[in-house]
Amino acid sequence: MSATIIDGTRVAKDLLAQTRQRAMQVETTIGRKPCLATVLIGDDPASHTYVRMKTNRCRTAGLDSRSHHLPAATTTTEAVALVESLSRDPGVDGILVQHPMPAHIDERAVFEAISPDKDVDGVTAASFASMALGSNGFRSCTPAGIMLLLDSFDIDIAGRYAVVVGRSPILGKPVGMLLLGRDATVTFCHSRTTDLAARVAEADIVVAAVGTPELIKGDWIKPGAAVIDAGYNPGNVGDVEYAVAAKRAAFITPVPGGVGPTTIAVLLQQTVMAADTH
Ligand code: NAP
Repeated sequence: MSATIIDGTRVAKDLLAQTRQRAMQVETTIGRKPCLATVLIGDDPASHTYVRMKTNRCRTAGLDSRSHHLPAATTTTEAVALVESLSRDPGVDGILVQHPMPAHIDERAVFEAISPDKDVDGVTAASFASMALGSNGFRSCTPAGIMLLLDSFDIDIAGRYAVVVGRSPILGKPVGMLLLGRDATVTFCHSRTTDLAARVAEADIVVAAVGTPELIKGDWIKPGAAVIDAGYNPGNVGDVEYAVAAKRAAFITPVPGGVGPTTIAVLLQQTVMAADTH
């Protein structure tokens, strides 16, 4: 068997085209382009690249963006004050605070300073609750992008057994909640899970969200499974041993070009939705 490649770049392109159309309509209604404010704290080169990609994509999709770059020595109080001012600013529709932040910052406090109606990256407790409860609200972008990939390839979710490896608040936990909301039976695995191989081997859907190159071996994958690899490690390597897994799975995301592109597309889609509701 050779897996169907889940082409995230194509899925993201379609969503961006729809978002561009919607952004133009919203602009005529509110008299300005939808606007995403980004907040970057510190000098992490990968975070700089991610924020630049997001603001570039805003431009091509017909959104405005405002970039705020704070030095690594910024205190939690200072970061919270900036995010609170953006939350009050009527010219800002969505707020993205790039993660990870420097270790001395209380990341949760900064996220919670985002007004829920501008939480287009789905990082606040309010957004997490609406994901868990299945109510309307902004979703974490990478988990929402993963659901879009599964749906775009007509991969059955209801009644299937999904194993999510990783339980971070922005990725593992919310994607598990979204899968549960779609009637999958979900197991979360993490660094204290014993016998990860056995858990993964039972899964119809595997979501890898760890950040360890090729932690999930290809021969663990159940023949016919759908494999979604959100991991992104140096050297363009995912969390799944792709070459072997692709011979057993029915569907698999490449790294890069799988999960990554849809994350940004969902962020922009949710920013336009936020502008539309003001
Ligand atoms: P994170 O906050 O570091 O969380 C990693 C998770 O992996 C934790 O829950 C940890 O368990 C678990 N873990 C660590 N070692 C493990 C092991 N040996 N077996 C099983 N689980 C293990 O990372 P994250 O922010 O969720 O990101 C995960 C990966 O996704 C990274 O490669 C990141 O670059 C990528 N990512 C991609 C996108 C995208 O748009 N494509 C977006 C976000 C993140 P504990 O909870 O027990 O510590």
